[in-house]
Amino acid sequence: MNEKSNIEKNEKESLNFIEQIVENDLKDTNKYKKIITRFPPEPNGYLHIGHAKSICLNFGIAKKYGGITNLRFDDTNPEKEDIEYVNSIKEDIKWLGFEWNDKPYYASDYFDKLYEFAVNLIKQKKAYVCELSPEELSEYRGTPTKPGKPSPWRNRPVEENLMLLEKMKNGEIDEGKMMLRAKIDMASPNMHMRDPIMYRIRKVKHHRTGNKWNIYPMYDFAHGQSDYIEGITHSICTLEFDVHRPLYDWFLDQIAEKGKTRPKQIEFARLNLSYTIMSKRKLLRLVKENYVSSWDDPRMPTISGFRRRGYTPESIRNFADTIGVAKRDGIIDIALLEHSIREDLNKRANRVMGVLNPLKVTITNYPKDKTELLDAVNNPEDETKGSRKIQFSNQIYIEKDDFMENAPRKFFRLSVGKEVRLRYAYFITCNDIVKDENGNITELLCTYDPKSKGGKSPDGRKVKGTLHWVDAKSAVKAKVNLYDRLFVKENPDDTNEGEDFTSNINPNSLKVVDAYLEKSLKDAKPEDKFQFERLGYFCLDKESKNDNLIFNRTVTLRDSWAKMQKNNKP
Ligand code: ATP
Ligand code: MG
Repeated sequence: MNEKSNIEKNEKESLNFIEQIVENDLKDTNKYKKIITRFPPEPNGYLHIGHAKSICLNFGIAKKYGGITNLRFDDTNPEKEDIEYVNSIKEDIKWLGFEWNDKPYYASDYFDKLYEFAVNLIKQKKAYVCELSPEELSEYRGTPTKPGKPSPWRNRPVEENLMLLEKMKNGEIDEGKMMLRAKIDMASPNMHMRDPIMYRIRKVKHHRTGNKWNIYPMYDFAHGQSDYIEGITHSICTLEFDVHRPLYDWFLDQIAEKGKTRPKQIEFARLNLSYTIMSKRKLLRLVKENYVSSWDDPRMPTISGFRRRGYTPESIRNFADTIGVAKRDGIIDIALLEHSIREDLNKRANRVMGVLNPLKVTITNYPKDKTELLDAVNNPEDETKGSRKIQFSNQIYIEKDDFMENAPRKFFRLSVGKEVRLRYAYFITCNDIVKDENGNITELLCTYDPKSKGGKSPDGRKVKGTLHWVDAKSAVKAKVNLYDRLFVKENPDDTNEGEDFTSNINPNSLKVVDAYLEKSLKDAKPEDKFQFERLGYFCLDKESKNDNLIFNRTVTLRDSWAKMQKNNKP
């Protein structure tokens, strides 16, 4: 095989199955002028990381093949929808780095058109107004193994159907008394084909159409039709809709005109993440029942939550790319998502020093009123980020954990009689401990080696431990939010009888500490990201103020994913 065909082959192999479908369709030059995909959120909650996957897929494919993507609000369920959600969805998509075609579309803009389709179906004797009660309806539908039976209203005359649909629309019929059903096949092995409901009566106000409508279309009688109206070529959705596809196609068969683009539904496996729930209904409960502070609480798996936590759009897009597109459901390890943000922030985030659990250290041989400025590298991964000056004096803070009174032999940090390096500063040796009346350690008394400036050994002698620290005289105070997983179980829905997912909530998912940080952080702006040396990546919270700094820990530095990959290597 020559080199060129090798490359071609590799490119073929790396296409996911949806890209293969699109490429084949594009070869058929008369079929589509341009690829048009859509992202169709229902505005009944904030977008989560699963939606991010779908956004990356829909916008990504269109972009790759020179097409466009519509944002369409699937707003056919007036009770649960809200303008707050509409706005958050737009903001999240933009933040992720995608641009929709034209203006946002709304399924509710097509209510007139859908009504027209329904009237035509009635005229073709393919739809009828049914008056079965909900109980009768489910009895008549049969079961997957038992065929259903025809509704007594199935053969209503066309004129009567038209008149009743009109009355339903005008609010002259009570909720639950009538519905419009498609006339398909009550014996179909696919339950969705057993005369599915097209319209139900709901006398509620819609966030866009107000009180104009008293009937609202069901998902199956809105989604594919909206795709068709917009000229969508590839309608990508999650796997649970594969059983709806025959119905999607049946409706298209009735309404699609020759020469117009006929959308094609393609299903892929939804993203599931360990230790994470993604149902909007459950996420709403977390907010409403105050398990978290808001939809964008940094513990939430929402796009806005990840953003506030310190994730970057690039890290989320890379994650979506890495996991690829599957045809079968699975669970992705959340460690992979965390790995993705570490990789990104490692390159992007400047290093700084902060102490989360401070222990005062006095350097007894350092002049009391002297301060000096030492050089600290901003990002060892990126020389262009340069260096900054950090202040040193005779009083500093180190991490409580970095000192042990009765240290085992392998403890390489500080204890009495031991020497460590203070990053970018000096070697220090601990000589004494100061305790309060309860025996708690309140201060360490140390001496420094003036010849070890910059943390460099003056004579080749080695120290094993390097500690981060901050100068006590210039440090700024900050509240730091340390997050842990929101759920204690890999599958939060795995509960005992009588319990629900809330019983798996981690009671220690948030710990707030008062920290001391180096002075340079005083001027950080919301969403600025840093690596606090040895402690993790942190992001300034959106509610932080100059005199009241709040940082959120995005992730620690321990990369369990990278470690797993390394251990799995032969
Ligand atoms: P939920 O069950 O959380 O309410 P949904 O599917 O009802 O989610 P929609 O607003 O209808 O939410 O979803 C918009 C789009 O996002 C749909 O095309 C849907 O298939 C896709 N989507 C939703 N959840 C996921 C997920 N976990 N992985 C991939 N795509 C998803
Ligand atoms: Mg939905």
